[in-house]
Amino acid sequence: NGSASLGLIVHETGHQYVMGQLANNEWREGWLDEGFSDFQEGWLLETHGGPPAYDGLEPDVLLLDLERWSEPVSTVSERFRDFLIYQEMVYAKAQLFYEQLRYVVGDETMRRILRAYFSRWKLKHVDEDAFRRVAEEVSKQDLKWLFGEWLHATPLIDYRLRRVERHRLADGRWRTVVTVERKGDGRMPVEIGERDSIYARATGEPATERVEFTTAKKPGRLMLDPRGRAHDYDMLNNREKRPFVGRAAVGWRLDDPTRETAKRDKLVSAWLPVAWSNDLGGVTLGLRNRTNYLGRYERGMLLASVATGSGAAGRLGFYGRWSNPIRHLMPRTQSSVAAWDVEGRAGVALSVDRALRQHLGFGPDPHVGFDALWMATTDLAYVDRRLWDDAGTVEAGPWASIEMRRGATLLRARLGARGGIVYSNPGPGIVSSSRYDIEGFGRFTGAASMRTPFLFGTTLGVRVFGGAYAGASDPVRQRRIPVAGADPYETFTDPFLRSRGALFLRPDFFYHAPGNANLRGFRSDLGGRWALSANIELTRAVWRRDQGILREVALEAFTDRALVDTLAVPSNTLGQRFTLLFDAGVGLVTRHQIRDLDWTMRFELPLIVNRYNEAADVRVGRGQLAFRWLLSLSPSF
Ligand SMILES: [Zn+2]
Repeated sequence: NGSASLGLIVHETGHQYVMGQLANNEWREGWLDEGFSDFQEGWLLETHGGPPAYDGLEPDVLLLDLERWSEPVSTVSERFRDFLIYQEMVYAKAQLFYEQLRYVVGDETMRRILRAYFSRWKLKHVDEDAFRRVAEEVSKQDLKWLFGEWLHATPLIDYRLRRVERHRLADGRWRTVVTVERKGDGRMPVEIGERDSIYARATGEPATERVEFTTAKKPGRLMLDPRGRAHDYDMLNNREKRPFVGRAAVGWRLDDPTRETAKRDKLVSAWLPVAWSNDLGGVTLGLRNRTNYLGRYERGMLLASVATGSGAAGRLGFYGRWSNPIRHLMPRTQSSVAAWDVEGRAGVALSVDRALRQHLGFGPDPHVGFDALWMATTDLAYVDRRLWDDAGTVEAGPWASIEMRRGATLLRARLGARGGIVYSNPGPGIVSSSRYDIEGFGRFTGAASMRTPFLFGTTLGVRVFGGAYAGASDPVRQRRIPVAGADPYETFTDPFLRSRGALFLRPDFFYHAPGNANLRGFRSDLGGRWALSANIELTRAVWRRDQGILREVALEAFTDRALVDTLAVPSNTLGQRFTLLFDAGVGLVTRHQIRDLDWTMRFELPLIVNRYNEAADVRVGRGQLAFRWLLSLSPSF
């Protein structure tokens, strides 16, 4: 009747044939029944007006192949890495194998293969050989390569269209010669065509293959695998070369920030006009571009902006980041390069993030990474001088992190180290042998946190943090260990937090960007050589929903405590080398979601701040206990 369970019924009915009457060993060769039954189910629904199963199935299998989670489909059940991979291989990838066989031999031959297989082997024991021999006999093709690649290995397939030559023949028809390059270790026949016509098929066998065909009309821009049936992982090199886009096709669109759109055969390039403001630049207009391929590769972000304010000398701004190129596959690794010259700061950054997890669906998720960065101030009129000195740094270092779930308990930890040089302009007229202009430094941070169910339906959150700066001189402002939250490098990419007078940096707006010692009640410009802190939160959800923009409302009580050095906040006790800071209060934490976009919002009241003159929300005549507020668009930790 078309209900959601139709697929299930068709699948289970299929088992009356595959393994019911064609009796394979389900433990040894599960793909002969589970993958087969999924395949016949998909083909049946397709025949009855549904979308081709291939299009929904193949991209998911492809990501498992590219990320190197895939294991040979013919693996004996209990030797798969885990139950999830067993399922993905024996159901999904096996289904894809039958689809690829169907693609290689054609629909009509595939039907004959299935009928011959049933009539020859019904009520007998079957295995891979039995099925392959029937397929080879009926199709009159050697199919050992196909069974070998799809069932006994996990190769990657990529073809590139190198060249197209068109010749007009004497009789007015066109002869076209296409040169196809095989770049992957896997092989598949590849169709050559354009939008809705297939002209020829390359065997996909040699490293370089020339394919000739003749047509009545001159063919348009040719493409390899236009129907998307060859499991080709990089379809950005499948087309005839064109200016600007090369061999790729680009799907231009207006960016909908609430949707992550990806295309199987195109680069998605989404544009969005944006605007923000700050004191020097005034209203700043920008155009943002985001790109991706398959959601994971060729991820780019470009942001060009122009300031309209009268005082700005450097009006034009640029920020660009490029991640995960498909031509340089690095499984389970994110890599990116960024460069910027915007609002008085210039720099470049490189980063690598490698996931070390052993299982996709469960278990700890450890990562290691490396960052290298150059950041310099180029126009002080833009910067918030409470947060930035006239200085630059070149720094690099490794980090490691882990996230773990134990029941409803979530544990997270991160350690990072950076070393480099800091160079600064001590200001005009200063001639001093003790002031540095260039100096080495090190910076070390570590944090661990836990959220776990607690008494009376509450959730307890605990976070501890330690950070230290090592260098002969005091750190420049942007490299201090901050007391209240994120450091200026961490908030730099956010135009609402970047420059003096930006929306969230305005002196009358108490925005909290979490991080570091995370004492949310204090001013964001406090920082020193070191800090040790603990954040404790008790939250209780009072309202939950599975749809709509507002998903959860929770009440919260928090306290943040830290020991910081006297550079951050001078001690009240003479000669003491540290200062104790604490705040406490209550808040409202809400969770929101619009389609693919979700965020957490905090409205908090840090009612108690022990060093109240250093509070973010400071007004004359207030004491430790006073009404103060803050707003944040991120979870506290
Ligand atoms: Zn089944």
